[in-house]
Amino acid sequence: MSKHYDEVIIIGGSIAGLASAIALSPFASRVTILEASSYESFHDAEAGAAVQLSDNGLKALQFLSADLLQKVFHHAVDVQKNYMVLPSGNELYDTITPLPPQGTRTLMMRWGMLRKLLFEAIPKDSFRIEFNTLVKDFTAGILTAVRQDGEERYPISDRTLLVAADGSKSAFRPTPLQYSPRLNVKAAISFSNFPSHFESHATYSYLGNPEVACFLGPAGPHHYYWAISLATENPEAVNLSIDQLIARLTSPETKIWRELLQATPPHKVFFQPSGQADIPEEMVHGNVVLVGDAAHCMSGSYGQSACLALEDAVTLATGPLLHYTPQRRQRCLDLQAASQQRATQAVNVKSDAPQTMSDWIYQWDVPTACPRENSNGPYAVIG
Ligand SMILES: Cc1cc2nc3c(=O)[nH]c(=O)nc-3n(C[C@H](O)[C@H](O)[C@H](O)COP(=O)(O)OP(=O)(O)OC[C@H]3O[C@@H](n4cnc5c(N)ncnc54)[C@H](O)[C@@H]3O)c2cc1C
Repeated sequence: MSKHYDEVIIIGGSIAGLASAIALSPFASRVTILEASSYESFHDAEAGAAVQLSDNGLKALQFLSADLLQKVFHHAVDVQKNYMVLPSGNELYDTITPLPPQGTRTLMMRWGMLRKLLFEAIPKDSFRIEFNTLVKDFTAGILTAVRQDGEERYPISDRTLLVAADGSKSAFRPTPLQYSPRLNVKAAISFSNFPSHFESHATYSYLGNPEVACFLGPAGPHHYYWAISLATENPEAVNLSIDQLIARLTSPETKIWRELLQATPPHKVFFQPSGQADIPEEMVHGNVVLVGDAAHCMSGSYGQSACLALEDAVTLATGPLLHYTPQRRQRCLDLQAASQQRATQAVNVKSDAPQTMSDWIYQWDVPTACPRENSNGPYAVIG
């Protein structure tokens, strides 16, 4: 960032918004986050299911704070094996993930824990966060938000930077979210609630059925993460009950996911329609910049949403705003195309031929325009 702002106002305090608060705090006299959800929901380290952090995301975290990265390592699990179950003959095979330095590293942890650690890492001297504050409009230099006690108006001068980190349904992105005909259902469940033979450093994918794809992996040292992707043209499917969902899992290979569903407390299960939006030609308009899912929402079969959000925040801090769109857009377009292709492949797996790894996805370097004092070399050294 080449400019110093009086204030950075961030709309949305999730992964992209919190990472932006850390990254931009050296460039603003004040940093404010306006967040729609409540204080209580926000501070739950067991909120959400799990996020995947690969090399690119880890490098971004390293830039934000070496101490933060250490805490992430503590609460995450390194994935060391990927098992796949094919419906033809229920064949199981193992693709061992190459580990650093030759290969890539993938960590998995609770989503709520990552959010908590990011929040704690924000320098607090000139920072504030307003909960229960739903931003609804930004016109004629006035940002309007709805709060329990009425509307709040924030006049925005050209010495304020507005960071739109309000997620996939962003009010700031010109292109709407388009739902795809798949429903994602996911949750995390503690090992004690679901004792099983699953290896704690491995992921398990059940693929090849166009109706349903299932995934299980670690969500930190004490939890499994499970996800079911269900083909459905029915927009009402988000209202499926757990029993209705179980009834859709009919093939023998999905037995374990039926058991997982039964063992997971219903209020911990998320029903999330899958969708994506066209990535806008420009991610910066005047003093408004889009980050995270607000900028590039994609049906994430590479599980890269959190990593991309972290990359965005770091890119903002390391160069002028003018460079942000050129540095981010093509990478996000490439990843969106690759995700779409992979989603198609995932339901068409016919043989046990090894999957090709798309290494380019994980290859990302912190832009070098503005190196930071706490950026002390490759993350693997301190991991
Ligand atoms: C509660 C929750 C749980 C999640 N769990 C998982 C998970 O387990 N695994 C996973 O891979 N991804 C999960 N995600 C999504 C994941 O965080 C994103 O896909 C990715 O990390 C990019 O993050 P983001 O900050 O851009 O968007 P999001 O994480 O979607 O965050 C957007 C934030 O903006 C706030 N917001 C939205 N609109 C407004 C508004 N108008 N005014 C003020 N605030 C607003 C929301 O409350 C939210 O905090 C979850 C998101 C949420 C909100």
